[in-house]
Amino acid sequence: MMDDKVTQQHWLKALAAFELSQEELAEFEQQLSALSAQHLQAELRPGLSNNSKVEQYFYSSDLPEQAKSFNQYSALLQPSVLGSVNTTRPDFVGHMTSALPSFMPLMQKLMAALNQNNVKLETSGYFTDLERQVLAILHRTFYGSEYGEQAESFYQKTMHQPKQALGVFCSGGTLANIMALWVARNRLLSAYGVAEKGLMAALMSLGEEGYQGLAVLVSERGHYSLSKAADVLGIGRDNLVAVAVDDQHCIDLKDLETKLATLKAKRIKVMAIVGVAGATETGSIDDLKALADFAQGIDCHFHVDGAWGGAAIFSQRHRHKLKGIERADSITLDAHKQLYVPMGAGMVLFKDPERVNAIKHHASYIIRSDSKDLGAYTLEGSRPAVSLLLHAGLHLIGREGYGALIDHSVHLAQEFARIIRSSRDFELILEPRLNILSYRYCPEPYRSELNKALAAGDAESVVSINRLLSEKTIAIQVAQAAAQKGFVSRTQLHLPHYGDAPIHVFRVVLANPYTQVCHLQQILEEQRLIARAL
Ligand SMILES: *Cc1c(COP(=O)(O)O)cnc(C)c1O
Repeated sequence: MMDDKVTQQHWLKALAAFELSQEELAEFEQQLSALSAQHLQAELRPGLSNNSKVEQYFYSSDLPEQAKSFNQYSALLQPSVLGSVNTTRPDFVGHMTSALPSFMPLMQKLMAALNQNNVKLETSGYFTDLERQVLAILHRTFYGSEYGEQAESFYQKTMHQPKQALGVFCSGGTLANIMALWVARNRLLSAYGVAEKGLMAALMSLGEEGYQGLAVLVSERGHYSLSKAADVLGIGRDNLVAVAVDDQHCIDLKDLETKLATLKAKRIKVMAIVGVAGATETGSIDDLKALADFAQGIDCHFHVDGAWGGAAIFSQRHRHKLKGIERADSITLDAHKQLYVPMGAGMVLFKDPERVNAIKHHASYIIRSDSKDLGAYTLEGSRPAVSLLLHAGLHLIGREGYGALIDHSVHLAQEFARIIRSSRDFELILEPRLNILSYRYCPEPYRSELNKALAAGDAESVVSINRLLSEKTIAIQVAQAAAQKGFVSRTQLHLPHYGDAPIHVFRVVLANPYTQVCHLQQILEEQRLIARAL
């Protein structure tokens, strides 16, 4: 039995964590900043692979019984902070995570200090309206042209309307894709009461009309989150139909037509067509206008996954590449990618602000039916006010700034492509449509042998040379990452002219504003040195 005195001591200690003195706070803050500064300056970038040396720090599964001091805790945290990946490095160009504007950590601190919960007005106050405003700004950026001179009055009327939402915030592109397809599914099956009676009952009713099932179509380059969505929503991963791509890795419209005809013949109802605007692996952008026509033709939901490439809308030079996106019923965007917001911010916009009612939920103690609580339309419940971070970005960087960031990284990708094309030991695999590009190691004499085999139609030799080049490309990527030098990622791609076997390529994502041509040249130089030693 704990006596009252001990309980009282524990209570006072717990309370102390809520009431730190200015000095204690300043000291802890200083320790954390020092750690983070040390990490950012570190040349090393350990921990990129599974590593038992790293695991040793994390073997204890004991629940800490007593509170540690801040000094003890900083010491405990040190290896993790120093061992974290420096995503701000200019030669870290393998993933979609990069440096942040310097003001973002401050905004995140404010967000934590205010600790708003945007699920409902009662816990978010002005931030519900701020979030609705941010959604309206983005909605207008993509769809505003559709309303012409009526735009101002359309947004005035809808943005704060309780029974409407121009979009919803969530933790990332995956959730956004799930929500977009959730809306598509519930709207399609609303007459059968899918939300109330369940998918089984809805599909049985659909079956009585002669349909055998549901399908969603996306190109082979579709992000794997769509397959999660198909699973979660009960559509089934196998019913996410992968449409072939052309040599630019954009959806092949002929194959789409064929697949649609097959589904029709099998009496399978198409729930949605998904266009990719900036494929994760290749950066390619589908012909969104053509996809909008297809979706219109069969009266199905048209979703655009713009988690990566959607931000190109801010660039006057490149926004034309998204033509047709204004006809999408929904658009996924990731603020934590090219809008440079810290991790945990995605959203889906809905062209028709009434569409979200397909997934509307109420609870009597919160989210009352006449309120403008955002929680009525989100998959998540309690949710941070990440819209504040994007609000800050939109105001402190602006359309011009975001446009310039896109222009810069696309230009850099084009420069890098030019360098690779003129090099004798690397092969450019795909011209960058935006700022993602792929290439591989392909020196002489492999290159001439490959060309000879291709010219002679010798498929077997093509495959075996490509296999060797893939092995080398993989070995170089692994060695470069292990050497903690420049970092590019790698992926596998099917290239029609190389036959059925996929080839392994380096993948470069250029979005870090610190990255310059010299860093990219350095990466190639490192790869050449590694290749020589293979
Ligand atoms: C990153 C990405 C996603 C998934 O977004 P998360 O924020 O990682 O959940 C979906 N689609 C595309 C095209 C992406 O690039």
